[in-house]
Amino acid sequence: MKIQIYLLLCAVAIGCNSNSSSTSTTNETKQMSKEYFGKIGNDSVYKFTLKNAKGMEVKIMNYGATITNLIVPDKNGTAGDVVLGFDSLEGYLQKGNPYFGCIVGRYANRIANGKFTLDGKTYTLAQNNDGNSLHGGLKGFDKVIWDVKESDSNHIVFHYLSKDMEEGYPGNLDVTVTYSLSADNELKIDYSATTDKATPLNLTNHAYFNLSAGKDSTILDHELQIDANKFSEVNASLIPTGKLPDVKNTPMDFTSSKKVGQDISKVEGGFDHNWVLNKKGNAGFDKVATLYHAASGRLMDVYTTQPGIQFYSGNFLDGTLSGKNGQKYVKHAALCLETQHFPDSPNQPFFPNTILKPGETYHHVTSYKFSTK
Ligand code: BGC
Repeated sequence: MKIQIYLLLCAVAIGCNSNSSSTSTTNETKQMSKEYFGKIGNDSVYKFTLKNAKGMEVKIMNYGATITNLIVPDKNGTAGDVVLGFDSLEGYLQKGNPYFGCIVGRYANRIANGKFTLDGKTYTLAQNNDGNSLHGGLKGFDKVIWDVKESDSNHIVFHYLSKDMEEGYPGNLDVTVTYSLSADNELKIDYSATTDKATPLNLTNHAYFNLSAGKDSTILDHELQIDANKFSEVNASLIPTGKLPDVKNTPMDFTSSKKVGQDISKVEGGFDHNWVLNKKGNAGFDKVATLYHAASGRLMDVYTTQPGIQFYSGNFLDGTLSGKNGQKYVKHAALCLETQHFPDSPNQPFFPNTILKPGETYHHVTSYKFSTK
């Protein structure tokens, strides 16, 4: 009898907690913290926290399934936030938010002239970037509220149903994105999707990293290595020409680690290109890039199943955005390493396929693994 009453009380405690600021799951150590962050129309936005025993902490909100904070210890064990973002939801909702930390879809990066032809039919998308379509259009996956399917302190599962012809893309697309944090400081993002009509699909995360955690105003001193012998050449509107030149003897060569600032002035506008990952010709989960900040000792390895990575050196940040703790986000304040399929693939017959068909499952995994040196 005593046991039954005890169980009843436990069940009531868990039930009562489910809408409060901290929800309990299976046991105390796995408790997921959930903080109210604001409202969009009738929808409440929450920040959910993943945590491990090594002092790493990741906050992710259900608006855009966005990473808002990524707390990582430096070589002395001092914790710091290594991604750009805002202290309030309003910051994320402002027009100039350059996709800080969000999930980008249906199609990450650009589709030329906002048009593609699939099975003989031409589809028109919003031309929201210099006559082209960028990052899924006017209201991409970064600007919608995602459902939370399950969560604990190690992982959270987001779900979003993108309706047929949403932002001009065909097919009801069912998307699941799972973030998980391991005991050894690996933040993994697992993407899967199915559709009921053929559609282009290219999902990524758009975190802006600065491993100094607010100490350096730019990432020009960060050292970067990318395992890629080729990159996608682009025209003045950043649309691929279809050519994949060798990086060798060019400023695009990151095959050996070098400072981001070393050759940046030799590239008009700064780095904003897709690198064609070597990946030993496979679709496996490989280490493809390493970012290192010597002063803090923070190091981030990137692993992915994707064939490409968009290295964007924060060229369009211009000091007008005031971020966390009032920081001014100046040009090159942070960089993105967006694992992805190549930009404009639906219009580029020789790029790897990005069309998902009914009956198939899209599945990609990327992880950002942190250590110190
Ligand atoms: C693109 C940039 C763009 C940035 C913010 C990156 O993925 O490559 O050209 O400015 O996203 O939208």
